Amino acid sequence: MKNPLNYVRPNILALAPYSTARDDFKGGDISVWLDANESPYNNGENRYPDPHQHQLKHHIAELKGVREEQIFVGGAGSDEAIDLVYRIFCRPGEDNVVAIAPSYGVYSVAAAINDVEFREVQLRNDYSLPVNRLLKATDPRTKVIWVCSPNNPTANAFPRADIARLAEAFDGIVVVDEAYIDFSERGSMLDVLDNYPNVIVLQTFSKAWGMASLRLGMAFAAEEIAEIFARVKYPYNVNGPTQQRVIEHIVNDDISEHVAEIKREREALAEALRGMPMVKEVYPSDANFLLVKFDNPDATYDYLVANGVIVRNRSKLIACEGCLRITVGTPAENARVVELLKEYQQ
Ligand SMILES: *Cc1c(COP(=O)(O)O)cnc(C)c1O
Repeated sequence: MKNPLNYVRPNILALAPYSTARDDFKGGDISVWLDANESPYNNGENRYPDPHQHQLKHHIAELKGVREEQIFVGGAGSDEAIDLVYRIFCRPGEDNVVAIAPSYGVYSVAAAINDVEFREVQLRNDYSLPVNRLLKATDPRTKVIWVCSPNNPTANAFPRADIARLAEAFDGIVVVDEAYIDFSERGSMLDVLDNYPNVIVLQTFSKAWGMASLRLGMAFAAEEIAEIFARVKYPYNVNGPTQQRVIEHIVNDDISEHVAEIKREREALAEALRGMPMVKEVYPSDANFLLVKFDNPDATYDYLVANGVIVRNRSKLIACEGCLRITVGTPAENARVVELLKEYQQ
């Protein structure tokens, strides 16, 4: 078994956990709170929130089938966890990371901010995972390999066996971004986290759970790595109302109907688009969006915008030439897109 602490920057490993005012307090029947310089006037939000997010993690652990000690939550979405990965593992100006391409843009932006070399490895032509080429792109200063599965924008998920092979062969951290995992038939890497202590899984409440506005992202990792995340994060990184609202959604919402509808709509939309002469290809999708290759992507994009529909133009990306990325909406919204494109052809 790999010891993931071997990959942590020495200065981070030496860090003592920051202790908040509330950490010094070890329980007791307190009714007068004069320890944190808060306002004593109760307006619902005058107290600092739990810096450890214990209650929230309890619910997430139950939902995801992991232990609370394996969880990091961030109040700026997955992007917070992505930035923390660089700050924890990569020495600025010295270390590098390897990532699949095309993929989510935040990995490279966060690399640049942290002054970490970013090495891209193109997916194969069929968008499958080039495990050997990824490994070949690494050197002793490569600390992290970024894999996004299902991948944005190519929409496909990679076989778990491929990701496992990467984790076994690589002497460093493999981050698997599973923002779209709820829409995929392929299983999450969460189930095998205990077998791969060098794997970090990212998930989010922004997509299938419908809480994009709350900005709650998650990282799941070996307990010793989750503990390092807790040391490096800002103390009160998830605000109180967000912790409360996410717990309410987890307890009260059943997303299975919505997810099932999105998957049905995804296939119906794909089928409708495949029948159109201006559509060159609709790629298989394990996510809540379709990557669609058009004859004339820019004109199609402008036409849709002119008619009040916005999609994402990815046609300038290497390996996505000609492609628009279309999020699957409600049945009515998807019907609108199909109707517009049918009219456009005539
Ligand atoms: C949408 C998305 C996320 C989620 O980002 P949040 O900051 O949690 O909203 C993460 N990774 C990928 C690849 C995404 O497409």
